[in-house]
Amino acid sequence: MYYAGDPANIFELGLIDVVDPAPAWFAQAQCRGNTSDFFVDKGQSVAPAKAICAGCPVVDECLSHAIAHRETRGVWGGLTPIERKRLRLG
Ligand code: SF4
Repeated sequence: MYYAGDPANIFELGLIDVVDPAPAWFAQAQCRGNTSDFFVDKGQSVAPAKAICAGCPVVDECLSHAIAHRETRGVWGGLTPIERKRLRLG
């Protein structure tokens, strides 16, 4: 699925599987209010999203969340789905 909107809306729109509207750490997310694509089609660059993640104060929480919830789409914690899978599998 392709989502080109504001990453701050991913929780509110139910694009990911979380019980509560958003985890507490998301209040500090660097991607809030940013329109860069965190959910891109194959072949599209994830560099802009990764650059934002690199300066995010909750990058560890975000990555842990994505791995724990096995998020299969989008850049989370600075990593793509394939990179997260490699990390998870060790
Ligand atoms: S690490 Fe990246 S995707 Fe996660 S909250 Fe921060 S900016 Fe958003």
